[in-house]
Amino acid sequence: MKSQKNGKKILILGGGGFIGGHLAKRLFNEGNFVRVVDIKEHEYFNENEFCNQFVKGDLRDPKIVESSLRYELIEGVPMEYSLLKHPYSEIESFDEVYQLAADMGGAGYIFTGENDANVMHNSALINLNVSYYSSKSGVKKLFYSSSACMYPEHNQLDPNNPNCEESSAYPANPDSEYGWEKLFSERLYFAFMRNYNLNVRVARFHNIFGPYGTWVGGKEKAPAAMCRKVSETPNGGDIEVWGDGHQTRSFLYIDECVEAVIKLMESDFIGPVNIGSEEMVSINELAQMAIDISGKNININNVGGKDFLDKYGFNCPVGVRGRNSDNKLYESKVGWSVSEPLVEGMKKTYEWINKKVSENND
Ligand code: NAD
Repeated sequence: MKSQKNGKKILILGGGGFIGGHLAKRLFNEGNFVRVVDIKEHEYFNENEFCNQFVKGDLRDPKIVESSLRYELIEGVPMEYSLLKHPYSEIESFDEVYQLAADMGGAGYIFTGENDANVMHNSALINLNVSYYSSKSGVKKLFYSSSACMYPEHNQLDPNNPNCEESSAYPANPDSEYGWEKLFSERLYFAFMRNYNLNVRVARFHNIFGPYGTWVGGKEKAPAAMCRKVSETPNGGDIEVWGDGHQTRSFLYIDECVEAVIKLMESDFIGPVNIGSEEMVSINELAQMAIDISGKNININNVGGKDFLDKYGFNCPVGVRGRNSDNKLYESKVGWSVSEPLVEGMKKTYEWINKKVSENND
């Protein structure tokens, strides 16, 4: 365990991933003690630059979750054997737990239907374990990352006028099993709050993007996918964009997301509340933004419907027609608003992905 500074004792579950890694780095740099638990190491951050302690563990296993929540682990002993020596009542608990671990990915992972059982089973197991053991171990505050994918499909059919107000969640009708699991787990954490006094904060993220995240391999999200495709394509070439390109979304840059999470945790507002950007663009506009940033002359080739099915053997995974964050509730309850224009975040993301693409080609 690296030197421990003053500050809060913080546990970040899923900190080997994109948002968790950035959040851990920020909280670690601010002088808190940060333990990260993830089934895999962070792809881009070395352990000593983003946390005090990295523990590799599968959070579907209740033993791993129980021991993760013990601030004092026995050095050098596998986590599953270092616990149960003392009851939770005799040990220190974490001040803050951030639960970001989930089986997830972009449209190609969530919307094809092929991963539905794993997505639901894996993430629900993690959340069942985390809610139960957090309430037992006396965690002071827990953050849970839900998703805009839990909003009903019928409110997101019009690309120009989607409704993602927090109060529109019910009657529920998410368009993916990923969204249903998020809705279930939101309810699970609130049930633990009501019955066992677990102090929770719940946010619904809307498309978070930025550098040091997945950019290739099928689990990447639209902004990273656009940047990679543009970077890999020579001047005068074409990039493929799934669907007719008129579907709309908003995207929030990672640093603003981290700030919004921290501000929510500091506030008295429990949520659920949106964390996203209100700058809605069509997917073709997003692609064009990446093209403009690159300075290249590239055409957008939209592939959907039967052409897509013939080419890939499955239906085009585009998700709902329109989705935009609605930040009124967050702004009124937390008193802060996101402000960076999408193009600024896209420039930073393009620059990072462009470098990765060149490194890969070397
Ligand atoms: P990510 O995939 O980069 O991070 C999730 C992490 O969870 C990964 O590092 C993964 O290894 C870890 N994990 C998965 N299964 C695990 C297990 N069994 N045990 C231990 N660790 C496990 O995703 P992200 O983009 O950083 O998202 C973080 C959270 O925010 C997720 O819960 C996601 O559903 C939610 N969210 C993200 C977005 C977004 O746009 N990125 C949008 C809405 C919601």
